Amino acid sequence: MRAEKQPVFDWFRLVAVCLVVAIHTAPLADVSPLADLWFTRILARIAVPFFLMTTGYFLSKTDWSRSGHQIKKLCRLYGISILLYLPVNLYAGRFGSAAEWMKQLLVEGTFYHLWYFPAVILGIWLVARLQRFGLRVALPAAVLLYLIGLGGDSYYGLLSQIPTLKHLYDGLFSLSQYTRNGLFYVPLFLVLGSVDWKLSRWAAGIGLAVSMAVMSGEGLWLHAIEAPRHDSMYLMLPVCMVCLFTLLRSGNHGSCKPLRRICTGMYVLHPLCILLLRGGAKVLGLEALLIENNLLHFLGVLLLSGLLSGAGLCAVGHRPKCTARAWREIDPDALGHNVEVLRQALAPDTELMAVVKADAYGHGAVPVARQLQRRGVRAFAVACLTEGIALRKAGIRGTILILGYTAPEEVPLLNRWRLTQTVVDGAHGHALAAQGRRIHVHLALDTGMHRLGIPTEDWRTLRGLFRRPELCIDGVFSHLCVSDGRTEEEAAYTEAQLERFYATVERLRSDGYDPGKVHIQASYGIWNLPVQPCDYARAGIALYGVGSDHTPVRTELDLRPVLSVRARVASVRTLQAGDSAGYGRAYRAQQTMRMAVVTIGYADGLPRSLAQRGGTVLIRGRRCPMIGRMCMDQLLVDVNTVPEVAPGDVVTLLGQDGAETIGAEDVALCCDTITNELLSRMGARLPVVERTEETCG
Ligand SMILES: *Cc1c(COP(=O)(O)O)cnc(C)c1O
Repeated sequence: MRAEKQPVFDWFRLVAVCLVVAIHTAPLADVSPLADLWFTRILARIAVPFFLMTTGYFLSKTDWSRSGHQIKKLCRLYGISILLYLPVNLYAGRFGSAAEWMKQLLVEGTFYHLWYFPAVILGIWLVARLQRFGLRVALPAAVLLYLIGLGGDSYYGLLSQIPTLKHLYDGLFSLSQYTRNGLFYVPLFLVLGSVDWKLSRWAAGIGLAVSMAVMSGEGLWLHAIEAPRHDSMYLMLPVCMVCLFTLLRSGNHGSCKPLRRICTGMYVLHPLCILLLRGGAKVLGLEALLIENNLLHFLGVLLLSGLLSGAGLCAVGHRPKCTARAWREIDPDALGHNVEVLRQALAPDTELMAVVKADAYGHGAVPVARQLQRRGVRAFAVACLTEGIALRKAGIRGTILILGYTAPEEVPLLNRWRLTQTVVDGAHGHALAAQGRRIHVHLALDTGMHRLGIPTEDWRTLRGLFRRPELCIDGVFSHLCVSDGRTEEEAAYTEAQLERFYATVERLRSDGYDPGKVHIQASYGIWNLPVQPCDYARAGIALYGVGSDHTPVRTELDLRPVLSVRARVASVRTLQAGDSAGYGRAYRAQQTMRMAVVTIGYADGLPRSLAQRGGTVLIRGRRCPMIGRMCMDQLLVDVNTVPEVAPGDVVTLLGQDGAETIGAEDVALCCDTITNELLSRMGARLPVVERTEETCG
């Protein structure tokens, strides 16, 4: 089950924004200059690194594949912010020349706090490239850049005593006013945020206290000797941030988008609020209260920027995350969890081969394979050539095994896309080889299913295939046909299949042929067999967190369903007693009732029979029965139990809504099929969205 919602990151974002406002308003300046120095020049310097680390954290969750998307979003926000401050800049007559404007736009941000946008955009771009070389390259590179930046920031006074260094840094400053920018400052925190530091809460807490104390000492000393040219960067700051971020991350569950947006608004708007407050105070004669009292000034700016930002948010309004009429929603966390659970169930040197055929059983092959790749899965299985090519085009690396037949004429494509082909029988193998190009193959062995594969007793054919130089035989596998059965007879049949398989593999080895990777288990082989001495296990349905049906298995695994299917209420209407609804007038109202029309139908992959076999949907967390006949693109439901139902409401066909869940096994059972069929037919017309905390509301 999902943990209770605790959007720690988003709450801390609010703290961080307050710290940024403090930097620009010096709330403690009247109390004590030393306190103010410590608070705004040292402590508050954790704010921006925190923003950067959350950015790194979320981008790393999708392997930085969404960095382009994030950059676009930031560019949009940056553009709006520039326009917002343009009148002030024009009024003040700043940046006379076009060259100066260019520099402002690309580096300094055109207003003092807007430096953040060009910096984070450059930083993301840079780190997205760096991380391709792995952490071992990205981290040292980012540390090095940070150290260079440090010399032009808090440590400038010390380093500039060396003339050559002073020369170098002063050269740098003609390009960028500070080293606190996208090149030297941002990358390190993006990288640090993307790493799971595996610190215990205790270690992180103690580390935070110690590093904060040391950083305070460092900062106060540097200021005492007047070393800082600017004070955004300290030697201890990254250490401090790793500890702080680890603590926050361990408690973070869920997110609060409105809060996040208010914080972004406050960040962008607070300098404007400083100007407004000053102007307002002057007009009202409240300067002593609102400007000269630093603490009240700080609070006033916070309040005003919070209010303005909230008002802006209300004016813009909420946009639902997915505006599609109906969609498939996959839960990357559940998928990752299933990968781990399955890996645990296999022998340590058995690798998981993810079966993503049939559009990943209706879950969306590309998004699923990308998520799996992120989690270290390096072997995939598909049904056919086109599925394999689609994955390669989407950037999926590693082995992609085509489990089904491919015409020999397609050998050039197998070759071109580095796909591994199953040899379905002797004739197929020789025909593939006859194309005259070297291709990678796995030999299918028929151990008793009598579908595909070379019969294990057909030794001549096996030997013949191993002698074809065109066939690079990377593996030998078989498929079990009753591994889901628990009767004695079925268990014996499976046992016989296993025996034939391993005997053949052994014989190949003893005859001097290398069988390569051997594999025989699919999902039910993992559930029902003891650990096997194989190189791969091919998991399909289990990976998606459901069984084919409710048949019990030998070893229950704690798997979680990955797919939800959702649609919307198109229209709500009232039927009078005796009214009929839908095709064939199949439903007749017994009394006055409320009915909703839902935006999904059998062309989206739902079994048409479901509506008449007791199918249900969830609306506002309540279960509503389907009525009448399902249409191609719509279906009807009885919403008497949900009086507040309204057009646009999200309707759950599969998955969870509140306390209620519709399981794929139940739907499949209801329609006399198995989840494999139900899911694999699901939704070619439906877009796939990845579930984030926001999409589940
Ligand atoms: C589809 C398929 C699998 C995956 O089966 P599941 O039962 O879904 O795990 C494994 N191997 C072969 C040969 C398949 O065709």
